[in-house]
Amino acid sequence: MLTGRNTCCPYNQELMSVCSAVYNRLTAIPEATIRRDIPLSQYTRFAIGGPAAILVETANPNSFVQALDAAKSCSVAHVVIGGGTNLVVADRGFNGVVLRYSARRIVQDGELLRAEAGAVLQDVVDASIAAGLKGLETMTGIPGDLGGAIYGNAGAYGRSIQEIVDHVHWTDGNQIHCFDNSACQFSYRESIFKRKKDWIVLSADLRFRDADSTELARIAGEIRTVRDAKYPPTMKCAGSIFKNLLFAQLPSAVQGQVPPKLVREGKVPSAWFLEQADVKGLRIGDIQVATYHANLIYNDGAGTAADLVKVIAECKARVRGKFGFDLEEEVQYIG
Ligand SMILES: Cc1cc2nc3c(=O)[nH]c(=O)nc-3n(C[C@H](O)[C@H](O)[C@H](O)COP(=O)(O)OP(=O)(O)OC[C@H]3O[C@@H](n4cnc5c(N)ncnc54)[C@H](O)[C@@H]3O)c2cc1C
Repeated sequence: MLTGRNTCCPYNQELMSVCSAVYNRLTAIPEATIRRDIPLSQYTRFAIGGPAAILVETANPNSFVQALDAAKSCSVAHVVIGGGTNLVVADRGFNGVVLRYSARRIVQDGELLRAEAGAVLQDVVDASIAAGLKGLETMTGIPGDLGGAIYGNAGAYGRSIQEIVDHVHWTDGNQIHCFDNSACQFSYRESIFKRKKDWIVLSADLRFRDADSTELARIAGEIRTVRDAKYPPTMKCAGSIFKNLLFAQLPSAVQGQVPPKLVREGKVPSAWFLEQADVKGLRIGDIQVATYHANLIYNDGAGTAADLVKVIAECKARVRGKFGFDLEEEVQYIG
C-alpha cells in the first residue's frame, strides 16, 4: 500500500532534507531499527524489488505508532509490509519509509488467542491446533503474518480469517484503537484496513471453539500436503495473483458460459477464466505462469518486477479479450 506523497528523492536537495528530517526523527525512537537502502527483494516471497530508502522495524507498539506518525507528519511516502508474501515491489524500489511491525507474541486466554500482528500466521495456526481450538486449521500453509492476513481477510478451503476475528487493535499513527468484528467490514479478501491504508493492525483477539487437537492436526496435515504440492515451499510467488470472481457480479453473458459445478460459495475461480484465455505456461524473462495452474505466477530465477507486471497485464488482457471484463489482482503493489 502506498500512502502520502513520494517526496524522498535523492536528486532533489529540498526533498533530501525531508528524508533527513524523517530519518532523524526515526532514529530517536526507542526499540526501533532504522536502516537505509535495504533491498526489498530480501523481504518479498517473489524475491523481487529494489531498495527501500528507509526501513523501520520494531516490535514495540508505541515505537511503531511513533514511526508511523513521523512518516506521516514529514509527508514522506510510506508503506507497511508484513511477511512480504503478497507483494509486488518495483525494481526501482520504494523511495520513502517502509515500516515493519515485528511483534509476534501469541497468548491463550480460554477460547481466545491474543496474537500480535507480526506473528507468523502458521505459528498462530499451530498454537490453535496445539490448544485444541478450532477455526484456523484450514488456513494451514498460508504464508505471511497475522497483520497481512487480517488486512486481506486471508482464507482457504471456504473459510476466511474474518470468521474468528473477535477484536482488532490498530493504529493510525496517532493512537491505538480497537474494532470489533463488524467494524472491520470484512468481505471476500477485503477489510476496512485495505481501504484505509494508514490504519495498521497491531494485534488481534481471535475466538475459537473447543475441538479435539488430534483431529485438527489431521485436517491441517492433509491440507498441508495438498498445498505443498501446489506451492512448493521454495517457490518464489504470491500464491494466487488474481481474486476469484463473485458469480452474481459477472456480466450475464459471462455467467451463462461458466459451468455450474465451478461455482462454489458464490465464487468462480479466476483460474478458470485464465485457463480459457490460454495463459498457462506464458513466460516473459524469468517470470512464468505455472503450466498446472493458470492463477499462479512465479519467479523462475532472476525475474524482475517489470516482467512480472507485463505477465499480469497480458493475463488480464487475454481474459478481457475473451470475456469482456477485468480480473482484479489480489497481490498488492509497492513502488
Ligand atoms: C505460496 C502462497 C500461497 C498463498 N495462499 C493463500 C491462500 O490460500 N489464501 C490467501 O488468502 N492468501 C494466500 N496467499 C497470499 C498471502 O500469503 C496472504 O495474503 C497473506 O495474508 C499476506 O500476509 P503478509 O504478512 O505476507 O503481507 P504482505 O505481503 O507483507 O502485505 C500484504 C498487504 O498487507 C498489508 N499489511 C501487512 N501487514 C499489515 C498490518 N499489520 N496492518 C495493515 N496492513 C498490513 C501491506 O501493506 C500489503 O498491502 C498465498 C501466498 C503465497 C506466497
